[in-house]
Amino acid sequence: MTEVLPKAGWTQRADLAALATALGAQNIRWVGGAVRDTLLGHPVKDIDAATPLRPEQVMEACKTAGIRTVPTGIDHGTITALLDGGPVEVTTLRHDVSTDGRRATVAFAQDWREDAARRDFTINALYVDPQTLEIFDYFGGLEDLEARRVRFIGDPHQRIREDHLRILRYYRFQARFGADLDEAAEEACAELAPTMKGLSRERVAMELMAILALPDPAPTIARMRARGVLPVILPEAGTSQIAALQRLIETEARFEAEGRALVRLAALIPAVKGVAESVAARLRLSRKDRDCLACLAGARHADGDAPKALAYSHGGTCAAGRLLLIGADPRPLEDWEIPDLPLKGGEIVQRGLSGADVSRMLRKVEARWIEEDFPGRERVLGLLEEELSDRTTS
Ligand code: ATP
Ligand code: MG
Repeated sequence: MTEVLPKAGWTQRADLAALATALGAQNIRWVGGAVRDTLLGHPVKDIDAATPLRPEQVMEACKTAGIRTVPTGIDHGTITALLDGGPVEVTTLRHDVSTDGRRATVAFAQDWREDAARRDFTINALYVDPQTLEIFDYFGGLEDLEARRVRFIGDPHQRIREDHLRILRYYRFQARFGADLDEAAEEACAELAPTMKGLSRERVAMELMAILALPDPAPTIARMRARGVLPVILPEAGTSQIAALQRLIETEARFEAEGRALVRLAALIPAVKGVAESVAARLRLSRKDRDCLACLAGARHADGDAPKALAYSHGGTCAAGRLLLIGADPRPLEDWEIPDLPLKGGEIVQRGLSGADVSRMLRKVEARWIEEDFPGRERVLGLLEEELSDRTTS
């Protein structure tokens, strides 16, 4: 029986139909995540397409049809078509000529099955005809999807030797869709884990953060550690950090908080600023994320860091993360706008203070204002009076 993709919002898109017409409907099939996620009934992010046409032919055909393109990865056959509904990557059918675990030399091909064979998992190698929505499944991907099985196409060892990043992709898809473990894949990942040392840190970090951003990465992360995969990329994560991640996920659920990858990463490393900084540098995190991770490392089982005081000194996002890390409720911060101290240095100058005394006085009043939970200006002026008279009497 021919399997057909159920209709989804994107399968009805006029701009995608126009792209198919431009290339010739027999020359293009949707492939990868969009097909897989539609079959699972999950929302679809971006659409990938495969074609036997060469990249130059794709650009030419699009140009004739008035579709703008960008040669985003022309060396390995990818052209991005800029459609009204969003960009679509159109990649020429290909097979790997040689691989070294980090990059592949590819040759263009004519055969859909050959193109499917170079993809990573059976569930990622399902193709769909743009007009009939007929599904082409060369390696049992439909059955695996049904069983929520993340299975390498071919021998897991060989496929990982071709591209070491597939270890992390395996765990990411496992964490997203996997039910039963694929023992052969698990063993291959464990055995070849050290090969990940040769990968670019950016690529490793992107995969790790993508795993951490999933709804519940804790069981997968725990397994990655048990299998010796996590220690290669995040040796800082010991038993107590794995437990901290589990607690964090539970806390997020309890307070209906958004699960943020960076906060989860903070749970996975010792709460020491220096460690956070070196992990952030190693993972090539952005400046902003680096600062945030260092700030999150300040989270302690403090006897009740007041949420608003935390937000005032570290910003709302970081404060919410720190609260979650100590098992506290970040919701008091949700609708709270961080206020400015309703007192200006000039007002203190008018009262006769000068130089360093002005900022010292400002800091004193500010500290008490925070302690009293951010009262209004009237009380702040009162606090100033109290501090001024303390000054004259002492
Ligand atoms: P996501 O929802 O995460 O985007 P996706 O399946 O679309 O999932 P992409 O990384 O966007 O994943 O890649 C698109 C497709 O390209 C995959 O479905 C897979 O067929 C193929 N692919 C991507 N990376 C690899 C890889 N490292 N090895 C083999 N095939 C890959
Ligand atoms: Mg994708």
